[in-house]
Amino acid sequence: MFTLSQFPLPYSYDALAPYMSPETLELHHGKHVATYIKNLNNLIQDTPYESVSLYEIIKTSVDDKSNPNAQKIFNNAAQVFNHQFFFNGMCRDCGGQIPAEIKNAFGGEDEFKKKFKDAATNLFGSGYTWLVRDGDEIKIINMQNADTPIAHNMVPLMNLDVWEHAYYVDYQNRRADFVDNYLNHMVDWDQVAENLKQ
Ligand code: MN
Repeated sequence: MFTLSQFPLPYSYDALAPYMSPETLELHHGKHVATYIKNLNNLIQDTPYESVSLYEIIKTSVDDKSNPNAQKIFNNAAQVFNHQFFFNGMCRDCGGQIPAEIKNAFGGEDEFKKKFKDAATNLFGSGYTWLVRDGDEIKIINMQNADTPIAHNMVPLMNLDVWEHAYYVDYQNRRADFVDNYLNHMVDWDQVAENLKQ
């Protein structure tokens, strides 16, 4: 059984204001993530998934033909991982520098931000824009709904949740403004640099 306290917010609800409000963080972590955990617990009860790590649940359920709930298990487990990764990758104006490896891969900081913003604003519906390492390549990819790079042998470096619940309270329909504030005020570049060492 998983609990919300295993996946804590690494800061207080007001830590990202005004770019992400306390109301959004309380709903997003305290309600949405809590619900994914509750659903996951119900789905894995009395199955082999009950006794393995979240990572193993994601890696196995993505192509498990033996459990009729595998897709639901994957979705809820991946959402727990994706949100923990998202929240752990942010801080407000905390000063780190974009790693040189990323600037080099995209032709500079501005080019990187432009490409990331283009991807995030063009993702149709719900999902995440990810920066990943795929083999030797660093790339920006969009993934729909709960899909996650760790299910596809890619190393996640940063992710932006563009489900409407991530921004609607603060930005209504203005997803592009949310993406701008994420890129310019909320990315924890030191954490991204740590992720690059994986
Ligand atoms: Mn979310």
